[in-house]
Amino acid sequence: MGFKLPKLNFSYDALEPSIDARTMEIHHSKHHNGYTNNLNNAIIDTDLDSASIESILANLDMNNKGLRNNAGGYYNHKLFWEVISPVDNDGISDTMLDLINTSFGSFDAFKDKFSKAAATQFGSGWAWLCVMDNGKLEVCGTANQDNPLMPNIGCGGTPILGVDVWEHAYYLNYQNRRVDYISAFMGLINWKVVENKYLSK
Ligand code: MN
Repeated sequence: MGFKLPKLNFSYDALEPSIDARTMEIHHSKHHNGYTNNLNNAIIDTDLDSASIESILANLDMNNKGLRNNAGGYYNHKLFWEVISPVDNDGISDTMLDLINTSFGSFDAFKDKFSKAAATQFGSGWAWLCVMDNGKLEVCGTANQDNPLMPNIGCGGTPILGVDVWEHAYYLNYQNRRVDYISAFMGLINWKVVENKYLSK
């Protein structure tokens, strides 16, 4: 069994100039591949070797640093590749826009809150858009490869959108300009995928 490095739905250069091909290649084939292999090595011949990644995360022993980092890294990047796209597929639907307006007041208010969570995450980490149990959306951030599915993380709900703000995600092209990378990321979001994740939650 074991987890497999997901294939991208587009080529490494497809997101240029927002994300350059070299960054995409290293990020996917080295970083994500590393998390995937390390996760598989951590669970081989244990009770977890046929568990879903969601179940591994939900039941995680937070003191198990190896599993925490690599199960998180596997899941987080899988989501990340799914929610970005080189294709402008008609933008955000009315359903999704209504939901964002209800949760944040306006699309701009959501954008500000999400961008701020990403920009102010100290060091390496992620910013998330999550669906809460009451159906509303919330924005939060986590450090390192943590994510909202982990126990007692203080960042609740089910993630439907995430942005990687580790330097490996942007440094070749943006160096210290994380804010510019986040701004470019906002233009890559595949809202159809995000909406489907919301609907299937
Ligand atoms: Mn990454």
